Amino acid sequence: MEEVARGERSKIETEKAEAEKALAELEAARARVTTGIDENMLDHYDRIVKKHHGVALAEVRDEKCTACGMRIRPHVFQEMRRSESQEMFHCETCTRILYYYEQVSSAAAVSSNTPSSTPAGLSQK
Ligand SMILES: [Zn+2]
Repeated sequence: MEEVARGERSKIETEKAEAEKALAELEAARARVTTGIDENMLDHYDRIVKKHHGVALAEVRDEKCTACGMRIRPHVFQEMRRSESQEMFHCETCTRILYYYEQVSSAAAVSSNTPSSTPAGLSQK
């Protein structure tokens, strides 16, 4: 009886060891995957955040960095405006990560374009 119990236990121990080994391999694989993508990016971001007391991003407006007011190089600005561009740009002066929103002149869009005709027979007393 005891021999059987011992045999069972060692079998379980072996299975457990194998499971742990598989888990370790999975962990290693995950570490490899995240290192290439996120870690560098996060590290980079962290450095800028620390340098600028929590603000790592700066919006570009009128071809200028809104954080330090320095002008963005024209070719950099052109590249930023390309919607398909996946590149990350930095201010050459304050090194913040730049982002840009295409300014749509909403003032023109709010012209009196509302239809004046009300549907006939609705809510008319
Ligand atoms: Zn700047």
